[in-house]
Amino acid sequence: MEVIIGSHVSFKKEDQLLGSIREALSYGANTFMFYTGAPQNTSRSELNEELIQKGLILMKENRIDQNNVIVHAPYIINLANPNNEDFSVSFLKEEMKRVEQLGMNKIVLHPGSHVGLGIEKGIEQITKCLNKVIDRTTKVMILLETMAGKGSEIGSTFEELKQIIDNINYSDKVGVCLDTCHMNDAGYSLENFDQVLEEFDRIIGIDKLKCIHINDSKNERGTHKDRHENIGYGTIGFDALMHVIYHEKVKDIPKILETPYVSCNDGGKDRTYPPYKFEIEMIRTQKKNPHLLEDIRQFYK
Ligand code: FE
Ligand code: FE
Ligand code: ZN
Repeated sequence: MEVIIGSHVSFKKEDQLLGSIREALSYGANTFMFYTGAPQNTSRSELNEELIQKGLILMKENRIDQNNVIVHAPYIINLANPNNEDFSVSFLKEEMKRVEQLGMNKIVLHPGSHVGLGIEKGIEQITKCLNKVIDRTTKVMILLETMAGKGSEIGSTFEELKQIIDNINYSDKVGVCLDTCHMNDAGYSLENFDQVLEEFDRIIGIDKLKCIHINDSKNERGTHKDRHENIGYGTIGFDALMHVIYHEKVKDIPKILETPYVSCNDGGKDRTYPPYKFEIEMIRTQKKNPHLLEDIRQFYK
């Protein structure tokens, strides 16, 4: 079976989904993830039906399965903060309608930060909100992402995610997205991924796993930092990440890169270039490129 691998891509006003797919294809990806607008604000361009249809055709031509495509919810949504409840609930609902209109069926969500209320209260608030968002008619699945535990983030342990899921009325419409950088920073050992997966299966259930974000980490295990690094250039390392990607038990799960752009001073101008084409190549060949950053700069310059 071919690995299902892609990266975060942009979603621009002019060409919308069609542009996102073209970008993914330029990286040699067979899936992708995008925000339907700026992640940090609420301005959203109206979806263009023609661009959606053209996009879906281009996906079909390139055998990209809609079931493997992921939308990321904007991070201004914080379901754990009761002061923003109405906004967060309505904005997430709207966003999920957009996901559906775009022909996709999965949205990744950061569970939220409790901003001082404590984990228990935060989890209560999250489940309350999710129960307002998800009803019998909901078609888009919400994937709760595992977090690094930075600040007051909820969801850095499988137990916390399980507690949320258990309190959702329509829990069949909630899944989980693992993030390797976040897990490392939260204290999980990716070197022992077999064990971590067993733990996940025991606590949450492997059938809930729907997406994996593949990132190396700039920080040591357990530091609760959340700073992504390019594949093979961080503390998790190439071999451990390959073991995750090619693990038999997660072979059908889409893997998404969210690694940092490579910066470069090009003729006096500071530029950044996407690493994904070269990282996907390393992943497909299962061979670390020792000149990754140089190759990226050379290619895009
Ligand atoms: Fe995320
Ligand atoms: Fe992530
Ligand atoms: Zn992150």
